Amino acid sequence: MIVKLLGTGDSPGTPILNCHCVTCEDARKRKRERKRFSILVKNGDATILIDTSPDLRRQLLDNSIEKVDAVIWTHSHFDHISGFGEFYRVQGNVIAYTTPSIHESVGKFMQFMEYRKREVEVFQDFSIHGIKFTLFPVNHPPVDAVGVKIEWNGFKIVISGDTNVEIGEKSLEEMENADLLIINAIAPSGKFRKHMNAREAMTLAERLKAKKVVLSHLGHFYPPHRIAVKNFPLGEDGQTFYFGEGKLDEYFGD
Ligand SMILES: [Zn+2]
Ligand SMILES: [Zn+2]
Ligand SMILES: [Zn+2]
Repeated sequence: MIVKLLGTGDSPGTPILNCHCVTCEDARKRKRERKRFSILVKNGDATILIDTSPDLRRQLLDNSIEKVDAVIWTHSHFDHISGFGEFYRVQGNVIAYTTPSIHESVGKFMQFMEYRKREVEVFQDFSIHGIKFTLFPVNHPPVDAVGVKIEWNGFKIVISGDTNVEIGEKSLEEMENADLLIINAIAPSGKFRKHMNAREAMTLAERLKAKKVVLSHLGHFYPPHRIAVKNFPLGEDGQTFYFGEGKLDEYFGD
């Protein structure tokens, strides 16, 4: 099974269209942008996306993904759902999984497009092509949001979703002892109502005893990637984790 970071940016992505800060200029110059948040989970023929970013068309083309079986939405914000429209007139039958309340708010956005809806409750596992998933509530006011736990062949991968650090105890239990924790950290420091900063994320990851931690949903508040990555385990677009034969391997780049 592979888990690939298709986009590690926050809602505007990096570079931001009209921003000329050092980080945005560096991303332009090196052509190393952070696209919006989507994660690919692939096992054999099964292709599953966690969130459908506004950059989805480019992400699918760049990764030669021609068919998607299922989508899991973590919440209804634009940067996590709006790429779903890329399936219009290209591919039907994509099953979209999330909680009833998140489906309700995504449905308002998706009025132009019917989709196959599968409602799942938090803390109740479900299986897609033999991979076990569990959604757990996180804290991303004012909207309902969930994180995703993935279990396959003895491995546990946890994706925090967009959240601040005030996560309920029951959800924290779901997040414990992950082989890989992909956790949101929009900035190196500072207080954010909807998100964690990198220090909060790293402290939480340590408490959760994650074996490997990758920060994602990253804003331009960090220094340019090659500098910031010396201090924090920042994810990058195209970073891929291979799970097999009882061990985890990692590759960088598209
Ligand atoms: Zn987001
Ligand atoms: Zn900027
Ligand atoms: Zn959000």
